[in-house]
Amino acid sequence: MSSTILVVEDEPAIAELIAVNLTHAGHKVLRAADAFQAQTLINAELPDIILLDWMLPGVSGVELAKQLRRDERTKDVPIVMLTARSSEDDKITGLETVADDYITKPFSPRELQARIKAVLRRRAPQLTDDQVNIAGLMIDPATHRVVGNGRPLDLGPTEFRLLHFFMTRPERVHSRTQLLDQVWGDHVFVEERTVDVHIRRLRQSLQPSGHDQHIETVRGAGYRFCASPGENDGTD
Ligand code: CA
Repeated sequence: MSSTILVVEDEPAIAELIAVNLTHAGHKVLRAADAFQAQTLINAELPDIILLDWMLPGVSGVELAKQLRRDERTKDVPIVMLTARSSEDDKITGLETVADDYITKPFSPRELQARIKAVLRRRAPQLTDDQVNIAGLMIDPATHRVVGNGRPLDLGPTEFRLLHFFMTRPERVHSRTQLLDQVWGDHVFVEERTVDVHIRRLRQSLQPSGHDQHIETVRGAGYRFCASPGENDGTD
């Protein structure tokens, strides 16, 4: 599945190499040469993952990562730090507080892609192509198929994204605002009521196999995908 990746790297040759490889792998690549440019791009469009060079002119990569972690809008965006081989071990030890992973230069395109995939799988599973199976319901982003108890189900594109988001984060409650940000996209201005409309359509599409029961309304909080519907009765 295609992700939007922001590459913050001041060395043009490295930035170019990364951009070419990730574009070739089907990702959308945004490029910044310093923290200021990075922040401008982030303000315009929230990336799915950020590759951040440690040594940048002006504000360092680590400092930018700390800023992003403090900001409500960017705190959950996965960050992979790019570090030089000369970096001290003790510096790298502190990295886990700001970055999800780090990769040491020079790295191969294959290694970079493997790291990106691993970080996305952990932090943003809705962006991967992995098939998800829960309680007899299967969703496959690669083939765009949904099957409930062996029966193919027909979902519209928004309902498909919504179900995929739910199934990659089962049991968790998502507010309408969170669903709009995550499923419809950041900076997309849609009324919260729209979410309810698509939840209704999603339930209708899942009805033939009875999986509509798994999409639960949590009063005053939002919606969730529940593997065993009904078990949580009386707790909310
Ligand atoms: Ca650099």
